[in-house]
Amino acid sequence: MEFCDLKKQYLAYKKEIDSAIQSIINSSSFINGSEINLLEEELANYTGVKNAICCSSGTDALLLSLMAYDIKPGDEIICPAFSYIASASMISFYKAKPVFVDVSLSDFNIDASKIEEKITSKTKGIIAVSLFGQCANFAEINSIAKKHGLWVIEDGAQSFGASYFGKFSGNLTEVGTTSFFPAKPLGCYGDGGALFTNDDELAEKIKMLRGHGQEKRYAHKYIGINGRMDTLQAAILRVKLKYFNEELAVRNRAAKLYSHILKSLVETPQIIPEKTSTWAQYTIRTKNRDGLKNALQKQNISSIVHYPIPLPKQEAFKNDIDPTEKFPIADELSETVLSLPIHGLITEKEIETVAGAIKTYFTHE
Ligand SMILES: *Cc1c(COP(=O)(O)O)cnc(C)c1O
Repeated sequence: MEFCDLKKQYLAYKKEIDSAIQSIINSSSFINGSEINLLEEELANYTGVKNAICCSSGTDALLLSLMAYDIKPGDEIICPAFSYIASASMISFYKAKPVFVDVSLSDFNIDASKIEEKITSKTKGIIAVSLFGQCANFAEINSIAKKHGLWVIEDGAQSFGASYFGKFSGNLTEVGTTSFFPAKPLGCYGDGGALFTNDDELAEKIKMLRGHGQEKRYAHKYIGINGRMDTLQAAILRVKLKYFNEELAVRNRAAKLYSHILKSLVETPQIIPEKTSTWAQYTIRTKNRDGLKNALQKQNISSIVHYPIPLPKQEAFKNDIDPTEKFPIADELSETVLSLPIHGLITEKEIETVAGAIKTYFTHE
């Protein structure tokens, strides 16, 4: 069984996607153009954020947000010890310092109660990741940031469509980012991403940074990058956005069914009532993780370890960390987590097959 069935999704919307792609080719308008503007409007409407800015990837969205905040070498930025590498690596890319904070066992996100002890006079901001589709605890994070005069970026690469106390991911901080990598909850057919902000000045600056800092044609106000989204990707995303809420409903039903069957066998994900998840991943915890993964593989069921190495233990950060510092929860997660197949068109039967195989594994173990 596929982990994330992108082919099935394409076939479900094939007619509309093919015609959207063909219309871009017919117009030969491959960069910018009305599709990008329309998608930006639709993303802003969906999230309730004033400005949505399309860009070339979730990583470039993070890069652009750090550029907008004028990050400098030596600045310290707080980020979670357990996540995908992109948010921490974009900090290091600037020769700034990622300051890792351990995560919490209940939601796998940055543990807000451990942030303050890491703040120094060099700290400039916090990047909080909304991991596996569930928003980080932004009420606590934002109040700490406010107290210390820091900015907060939400890395919402896995959480587009998630909500927190009634507000959507992207609308929880001054700047939010997301990714439209194909396997994300809302994915395109290549690389793509977006930034969200209610601040018009920041939005203008980010738009300029995305286009080599250009203010007027060939007049450049900032050092920027080419961070544009391809128009073809925007056309594909506009089709998929129409079906996105239906797919989220399927993901939610799938997660509920998984938890119902598995809760007595493994640690199932916890979501507080004030949050909704996009279920970018349905991630369980078990001490028998590797054995279970192998048993599922034998039955052709794919599962993935997100993530096997906590960020402070990545060789790439060896110059950024104090080797004696401990991140016990990040370590524990890296040894016990396993993500099960989930996507917007998964069937109940498929969930039952996966859950059944897990049940069999634990009864015969
Ligand atoms: C996927 C991901 C990114 C990077 O997005 P790309 O579009 O692949 O560059 C950043 N942060 C997190 C948490 C991610 O899952």
